[in-house]
Amino acid sequence: MKRIGLLTSGGDAPGMNCAIRAVVRTAIYHGLEVMGIDRGYAGLVDGAARQMDARSVGGIMNRGGTMLRTARCEEFKTPEGRARAAENIRRFLIEGLIVIGGDGTYRGATELAKEHNVACVGVPGTIDNDIGGTDYTIGFDTAINTALDAIDKIRDTAASHDRLFVVEVMGRGVGFIALSVGVAGGAEEILVPETPTDIDAMCRRLELGRKAGKTSSIVVVAEGDETGGAVKVGRDIRRKTHFTDVRVCVLGHLQRGGAPTAYDRIMASRLGSEAVTALLRGEKDVMVAVEKGDVFTRPMSDSWNLKKELNPHLLDLAKKLTV
Ligand code: ADP
Repeated sequence: MKRIGLLTSGGDAPGMNCAIRAVVRTAIYHGLEVMGIDRGYAGLVDGAARQMDARSVGGIMNRGGTMLRTARCEEFKTPEGRARAAENIRRFLIEGLIVIGGDGTYRGATELAKEHNVACVGVPGTIDNDIGGTDYTIGFDTAINTALDAIDKIRDTAASHDRLFVVEVMGRGVGFIALSVGVAGGAEEILVPETPTDIDAMCRRLELGRKAGKTSSIVVVAEGDETGGAVKVGRDIRRKTHFTDVRVCVLGHLQRGGAPTAYDRIMASRLGSEAVTALLRGEKDVMVAVEKGDVFTRPMSDSWNLKKELNPHLLDLAKKLTV
């Protein structure tokens, strides 16, 4: 193998740049050339690629987002789009492809591998931590620290004004961000899609807390929760309790940006580097994954076949600590 391709796809996540740097420098260390593909599969379909050297990835570790940029590409979901991508892969003499992104990105890579025999390795990159088969995805740690910082600040105001805040955090259809941030921020209630929410029971608990002398209350809601999100939950609490001052805050995209934490930088570096060595070992159609701190490879299809559960101990702890 002489030359590999690299792209970032789907939603951006802090730490993707560290993974890019690790891929490029590990590849160069092993005597490989790297073609950086612009804007994910869109760039692959359009043939937008450039060779990357060690210096091209200097000074990017502390930057959020992705220097290769990212995109969502409908054309790549069609056989014709993937045929164009495969044609460009041949034209650029790319012998292995590393894709950094979420499970949609992996599905795309799997189709490409099946139809055009391209050796693909996936690197998990998404703040939502919603990829099966890996305990960790790049960007998650930064996102929860960013959301936690916001919640700490909201708590200052909530306590000063005797207010109740309903804070909505990201996470698509899962509650990993909400649960982590809720526990770390001492939220009174944590609403995640994985567990059903009894709004009436929640309102009763919030009232009890107020009567017991709590000066502030924070309800963390995952964006994918079945209650319909923070605005709706705030309305319900206003209707069903005696809280006079209920405020809603949707944290939104600020959770996606910012300098990656040390943990994200280290994990992204390990995962990116392992992706290159996996290609060198001749592996294909695999993702690099983390389990109990170890980095290894497993079939890409595990990302959608293995269901990832919230940590039941953390769920239980959240209940105990909010009495
Ligand atoms: P993520 O990788 O973060 O889950 P998306 O689900 O948006 O993000 O997927 C990123 C891109 O991967 C899509 O824009 C599309 O180009 C490609 N993709 C997603 N699902 C498929 C699929 N089933 N078949 C082919 N390509 C896909």
